[in-house]
Amino acid sequence: MPANLTYLGVELARPRVAFFELSSCEGCQLQLLNNEATLLDFLSLVEVVRFREGMTEAGDDYAVAFVEGSVTRADQELQLAEIRKKAKVMVAFGSCACFGGVNQLKNRFSDQEWVKREVYGDFHVDTQLARPISDVVKVDLMIYGCPVKKEEVERIVTDLLLGKAINHPKYPVCMECKANENICLFDLGEPCLGPVTRAGCDAWCPSNRMGCWGCRGPADAANIPQMARIMAEHGFSTETLLDRLECFGGFAAHVEEIRKKG
Ligand code: SF4
Ligand code: SF4
Ligand code: SF4
Repeated sequence: MPANLTYLGVELARPRVAFFELSSCEGCQLQLLNNEATLLDFLSLVEVVRFREGMTEAGDDYAVAFVEGSVTRADQELQLAEIRKKAKVMVAFGSCACFGGVNQLKNRFSDQEWVKREVYGDFHVDTQLARPISDVVKVDLMIYGCPVKKEEVERIVTDLLLGKAINHPKYPVCMECKANENICLFDLGEPCLGPVTRAGCDAWCPSNRMGCWGCRGPADAANIPQMARIMAEHGFSTETLLDRLECFGGFAAHVEEIRKKG
């Protein structure tokens, strides 16, 4: 990949970007590599200096750091601090980085030693509660989703390069679901968090006949009591609602409130 691209003889700025993974399944990074149709276009926008899933080189000179995964070990805090020092823009990449993601499910258990024994047996693993990266360093930009939606990543990166404001949808998944002319899953007997979850995934799950689990966190002004009423009206328990709200960590404050009320 040439270092400097030109268009009509004019040099185009291609920021140096790096990808890092903390505790994660690396599925968010895989999303980018999977997008073969537009991968070359994407790579013409940026100069990738580190991306373990896609290249062997690992440069340390970057302006934008995409960090995937949640923080579950002390050494990751040090790693994050180092990345933050070098990066002009720090991006929390995917729901693990934004909210703790599926990793934070273990935080529900009060006895973390028991969790370790159940999962790892006698094998020693240094693992603590799962936290979003914003607990450790300042984050400039969140890209939500488990996994992230590749089309959205490309749009956000393009906006970043053009110096445009990056706006996430304020409305819920239901808007995109209706625009896709789906039959509402509640009418088919399935629960769905679409009414309270931030859109941007093009109603990925409901469009494939699966209820939303809220991986992108709450939409602006998410009406959780109304969500609870909709679930109850369709015969779903508070536990079913909580299972979904708790899954990715984005609704943590709401879960706490519901649990307090009992
Ligand atoms: S957000 Fe989901 S897909 Fe991305 S790293 Fe975490 S678990 Fe994997
Ligand atoms: S299926 Fe889910 S996202 Fe779609 S309209 Fe029904 S509640 Fe909303
Ligand atoms: S529909 Fe819900 S769970 Fe599925 S990708 Fe979108 S926000 Fe995530």
